Amino acid sequence: MSWSGKLLRVNLTNGTCTSEALNMEWAQEYLGQRGLASKYLVEEIDPQVDPLSPENKMIMTTGPLTGTMAATGGRYSVVTKGPLTNCIACSNSGGFIGAEMHNAGWDMIIFEGRSANPVYLYLLNDKAELRSADEIWGKSVWETDEWLHAKHQDPMLRIAAVGRSAEEGCLYAAIVNDLHRAAGRSGVGTVMASKNLKAVAIRGTLGVGNIKDPAKFMQAVSAGKQVLADNAVTGQGLPTYGTQVLMNVINEIGALPTRNMKEVQFEGAQNVSGEAMHENRPTDGKPNLTTNAGCFGCTIACGRISTIDKGHFSVENKPQYWGNSGGLEYEAAWALGPDTGVDDLDALTYVNFICNEDGFDPISFGSTVAAAMELYKIGAISTAETGGHELKFGSAESLVWAVEVLVSGEGFGKDLGLGSKRLCEKYGHPELSMTVKGQEFPAYDPRGIQGMGLAYATSNRGACHLRGYTVASEVLGIPEKTDPLATEGKAGLVKAFQDATAAVDSSGLCLFTTFAWSLEDIAPQVDGACEGEWTAERMAELGERVWNMEREFNLKAGLTAADDTLPKRLLKEAANVGPAQGRVNDLDQMLPEYYELRGWSTDGVPTDETRKRLGLG
Ligand code: SF4
Repeated sequence: MSWSGKLLRVNLTNGTCTSEALNMEWAQEYLGQRGLASKYLVEEIDPQVDPLSPENKMIMTTGPLTGTMAATGGRYSVVTKGPLTNCIACSNSGGFIGAEMHNAGWDMIIFEGRSANPVYLYLLNDKAELRSADEIWGKSVWETDEWLHAKHQDPMLRIAAVGRSAEEGCLYAAIVNDLHRAAGRSGVGTVMASKNLKAVAIRGTLGVGNIKDPAKFMQAVSAGKQVLADNAVTGQGLPTYGTQVLMNVINEIGALPTRNMKEVQFEGAQNVSGEAMHENRPTDGKPNLTTNAGCFGCTIACGRISTIDKGHFSVENKPQYWGNSGGLEYEAAWALGPDTGVDDLDALTYVNFICNEDGFDPISFGSTVAAAMELYKIGAISTAETGGHELKFGSAESLVWAVEVLVSGEGFGKDLGLGSKRLCEKYGHPELSMTVKGQEFPAYDPRGIQGMGLAYATSNRGACHLRGYTVASEVLGIPEKTDPLATEGKAGLVKAFQDATAAVDSSGLCLFTTFAWSLEDIAPQVDGACEGEWTAERMAELGERVWNMEREFNLKAGLTAADDTLPKRLLKEAANVGPAQGRVNDLDQMLPEYYELRGWSTDGVPTDETRKRLGLG
């Protein structure tokens, strides 16, 4: 069994760290990471708890395949109740710290309570200590990383930290690990900072050695790696262009949300695309993209490492940003670019650097700036609120100013830290917030990709592409091509993607493998590593169990079927150009069928029969 079999419970109020046996019965039902940690959260907190109170808990968790030889087996998740959505939140990240944690002998760390003073957790195999973070409170993620490495004199130390925006209460703050990998969505970093926990620093040298059947496992792993290498998306597209391979593709099909989702195609898409990142800049003759990069154990390596032209206005007097760092992924490039109308690749890269340096979600940030720009355009916000600064669609200067004022946490920066929903409510136009359950949309317009509308509306953590990525089928034809403008069959498609995603997220593997792998490829790897018989069918059922458990948590937190909806703009204002011209999202045609397929009542509540079938008590 590749579970370590133990969890670390860190009580921040008392300053104690204690080891506990992992509940192996639950591990058989929920596997690990997203599923198993959510089970612990559901059992241990009141769903109505204030997310930023000491009563909320934050769980840092690996899957049983994290840190093993499996391709992409470097993932970890942070599970908590999210402050942006008031829903259950699970934010997944790659890099190296997840593998380090599992190699240190821990399946998960449960943080509870609140420390009286800033602290960080230092974890060296089975030695766990809370230490003072007084000197790094108020510092950025990057400064914190440097300080901890210097203090412990260990270049192999892996670090996850929150930045100043989290401390200031930005509701979409991230936890950034390995400098530019992030558990980015739903404000998990805000929860961490609310506990006065600045960082987690881990060194693990024990290895993940308890594989059930090493020969069978390695055979399944090798077969899986070959499938990834042979596939056009995971073998060529992602290594070459990263997720940014999608910018021009999504624009062409008329589903690239533009200027706060008012439009569906962006005239400057090419300038901020994956292809553009390869081209030499006319200004300094160098390309934006330096190289690709992989997380622990990854054979895809979709990560981007980029530079900015030293003469660009955003960095010309800031040499600290002249080197290589984490570059644009598609979702970040979209939110900072097309959604704000900005097509300046260097400006987007700079803002992305700052999102990593200070630790906040570029999707929520860009979308919130886009909403602010629309509020400015209609006169609901003026230079009186912004301290004299303009907030114009298409202005790179406005975008750069916005990111800097957010980091400062002062003036209009506080407003931007509220997120789009609360910002638009504050300025009297809630209808301009492009969110579901308080979380900002990612980069696919549901008028041009109908299934994504249903996926957003029903996502357990608010609008999200990583909870049911039907783009794979509707646009890329994986595993089979469906018509993005059709609604028929989308309820079943969304349910299947949601359940499979929950299973993958519970394993320790990266979701991007599913461009090539199905559960038929993943189950043998889990089966080779873990006690029990693990088939594709069992994995799918596990995913369905996790989905329903998350749903029940949200219902107990106070959400209802009325929250399974989309902003009026997407339901009433038709796309004005492109292949989706004349279309709105037809959510009302898909949602009732979805509830039925899920085995829920017409009010969106799992029936007793469904709960019993899934063993939900
Ligand atoms: S595919 Fe990309 S995000 Fe996933 S593990 Fe590999 S490098 Fe990381």
